[in-house]
Amino acid sequence: NPSAPKLPLTVLIAAPRGFCAGVDRAIEIVERALSRYGSPVYVRHEIVHNKFVVDGLKAKGAVFVEELDEVPDGVPVVFSAHGVPKSVPAEAEDRGLEYLDATCPLVSKVHRQAERQIEAGRHIVFIGHKGHPEVIGTFGQVPEGSMTLVETVEDVAALDIALETPLAFLTQTTLSVDDTAKVVEALSIKFPNIVGPKAEDICYATSNRQAAVKQIAPGSDLVLVIGAPNSSNSLRLVEVAERCGTTARLIQRASDIEPAWLEGVGTIGVTAGASAPEMLVREVVDKLDEWREVEEHTLVTAEEKMVFKLPRQLA
Ligand code: SF4
Repeated sequence: NPSAPKLPLTVLIAAPRGFCAGVDRAIEIVERALSRYGSPVYVRHEIVHNKFVVDGLKAKGAVFVEELDEVPDGVPVVFSAHGVPKSVPAEAEDRGLEYLDATCPLVSKVHRQAERQIEAGRHIVFIGHKGHPEVIGTFGQVPEGSMTLVETVEDVAALDIALETPLAFLTQTTLSVDDTAKVVEALSIKFPNIVGPKAEDICYATSNRQAAVKQIAPGSDLVLVIGAPNSSNSLRLVEVAERCGTTARLIQRASDIEPAWLEGVGTIGVTAGASAPEMLVREVVDKLDEWREVEEHTLVTAEEKMVFKLPRQLA
């Protein structure tokens, strides 16, 4: 009944949420490459895991491909924020392609740690999600067979590595902080001599977004996480909210929200993964406002000031 007064709805917005410094930088690299070289600029893999961002860049002249052999000779190519195996820039060099590396500096840091551990004669146990491009990229920094993937505590139990083998662990940047702590603990118990980074390699943006959603989820009847189904850090935000006992749904756009979800909901939490633009958060709040009398609150749990430098070619 459109004439009936709208029911109130409290909207709790998590902060920090949305774009991180690595995503900001990756998008800026594509935009600057487009203005420097003109279109087309090729991008290997989705620059960041968000359809809205990718479509926006396509409209400006970026062409997205999965592999380097789809890039024609003589056009510039950008590597995505997730990082690439060493074979990719090597192949680009062989072909004389101009390339720009949008790998997040925090992912590159893990790449360098991997190289260092191999130089030190250690085998690496890598905690990450099978098939994720970041994992493929990090595995591609070291010789085949020198790194073993584990995803869970059960995988650690099943590891068949001789106790005297010198070992190191490293992690993907976008994991669940809580789950990773358990996997690291299991590794340290099973392999007391394993060495690792001072803190795990989970990045500041991932851990801040997880801490922020923990603040809004307990008081919410439903949490909406804006992000893509292939975005690791967004999926983790859904899990973290659910572990607070709150139903959580991953949505890409406001149009994904079904009115039935709001039945009996008085407070709704909203957050966004590191690759989701703020515009989509506003779109969601505006949509909720069409149906309900929205009162909006932002819960700030951390301030972020991280900015990453652009590659030399574009600075
Ligand atoms: Fe870099 Fe973390 Fe953002 Fe990934 S989520 S791009 S590692 S800052």
